[in-house]
Amino acid sequence: MSQPPFVALPGLPDAPHRDLCTDCGVSRTASPKRCGSACQFIQPDYPALEVKVHGRTRAPRKAPDELHFGVHQRMLRASLKVPADGAQWTGITTRLAQRLLETGAVDAVLTMKPDPADRWRPVPVLITRPEDMAQCRGMRMGYAPLLALLEPALAAGHKRLAVVGIPCQIYALRSLEAELKARTGLERLYVIGTPCSDNTSTERFHQFLELIAAETRDDPADITYLEFRADYHVELRYADGRKRAVPFLMLPLSQLPPDFFPLTCRSCVDYTNSLADITVGYMGGEGEQWLLVRNQRGEELVQLLGHELNTRAPGSSGTRHGPVKGFLANVERAAGGLPLRRMPQWLRPVVGWLMPKVGPKGLEFARARVEMKAVESIVHLRREQPGKMKNMLPGHVWELAAPYGLSPAAGEQRPGPEAAHDMAPDTAPTPTGTMAGSGERRHPPEPPGPAG
Ligand SMILES: Cc1cc2nc3c(=O)[nH]c(=O)nc-3n(C[C@H](O)[C@H](O)[C@H](O)COP(=O)(O)OP(=O)(O)OC[C@H]3O[C@@H](n4cnc5c(N)ncnc54)[C@H](O)[C@@H]3O)c2cc1C
Ligand code: SF4
Ligand code: SF4
Repeated sequence: MSQPPFVALPGLPDAPHRDLCTDCGVSRTASPKRCGSACQFIQPDYPALEVKVHGRTRAPRKAPDELHFGVHQRMLRASLKVPADGAQWTGITTRLAQRLLETGAVDAVLTMKPDPADRWRPVPVLITRPEDMAQCRGMRMGYAPLLALLEPALAAGHKRLAVVGIPCQIYALRSLEAELKARTGLERLYVIGTPCSDNTSTERFHQFLELIAAETRDDPADITYLEFRADYHVELRYADGRKRAVPFLMLPLSQLPPDFFPLTCRSCVDYTNSLADITVGYMGGEGEQWLLVRNQRGEELVQLLGHELNTRAPGSSGTRHGPVKGFLANVERAAGGLPLRRMPQWLRPVVGWLMPKVGPKGLEFARARVEMKAVESIVHLRREQPGKMKNMLPGHVWELAAPYGLSPAAGEQRPGPEAAHDMAPDTAPTPTGTMAGSGERRHPPEPPGPAG
């Protein structure tokens, strides 16, 4: 009997209300109380999970980039020699999962496909046939309960799994991994992560598309692709094959309501998906993809692609301090309910043209973005949920924010081992890239001006 192409989510109970929640799926399982220990928004312990997953915590004294990007063995700028149709970049993420199925390393892959009625809405699926990974390519905006499929997958006899997910899903997955191995017979788990920032509900994302389309005089329904590129442009693609690159500064961001991004995504501390075996992003890639190979399993994944992959060392240039400082000033104004400092309309095209030339590039762009995320998390939590700060903010976030004058006030930091790193054995890699730079956020608030 032939297998169905994929298993979509069965009828799930509504998710019980959680204060900060991106509906990763744990609350919809038979034991929703596990959110208490599995959630990155409740009481995460990144160093403990880093030790479990990678064998050590981040070691910035030996490898400075680990402070920003988490534990890794090496970083690469990469692309598939033959880019996959419909992929967000060249399709490394889905190809890795496909290779795992082709080689029999896993029985099934847990990931997202687009909702047939709305290409932007993610729907969790369990893929068992390599060819079906193609339908999962591309980025959707929104949340969907990926991990609710874990136990049904194991119950169906899939004991070797791969999961493709964003950081809040992967944190919960790693928290549950030991229990799943002990209780359900999970034998092997490969985790392919993408970075994630500034996500919002699919409904809200449609509002954003409408605003962009109004600006470019297009029909929002015709937009099939959107990406915030590392060259300070948003790339749009259309159903008729057209493409357009819009400078960040020309985006209608000031028209978005203040709560457009939920507090979860304004205060999320794991931009680079530090608990994945491999992270596949673009921020440090200067127009190509950016791979963070974090452990031996991640290395195994890269090897699966063999000659399909072009790779080279990531570059780095520019200086991030000024732009991160300017970003912080604007985040503080926005969080305080003040209007953003806006650049005059006439200056925007000039600065939009200038930024790709003078702004930070490569790894420095990625460092800038990670620092922006750190300062943003602190400012928003301090204003909206100060009681959560000591549990939600790991020590490395405070270290990232320190150069910008942000340090923990009394009661904002948990004493003890969570703040620790550099407890690593002598296996930390040598640093990749150099210090320098500046940056821009994926969905930036209005920048403060050319001087940053
Ligand atoms: C909301 C969001 C924000 C992101 N922000 C950044 C960023 O700021 N910087 C950066 O470097 N990279 C970011 N990424 C990752 C980036 O967009 C690419 O997805 C990634 O680089 C992989 O490209 P690819 O061509 O290899 O992916 P593909 O081969 O096209 O595969 C994409 C994979 O992502 C999964 N996916 C798509 N949408 C979702 C979703 N909403 N939730 C969970 N999984 C999903 C798909 O199921 C598929 O498996 C973000 C991704 C998402 C979903
Ligand atoms: S994000 Fe996941 S773990 Fe956290 S509260 Fe929501 S369902 Fe639970
Ligand atoms: S920004 Fe963070 S909290 Fe929001 S969806 Fe992405 S990983 Fe989850």
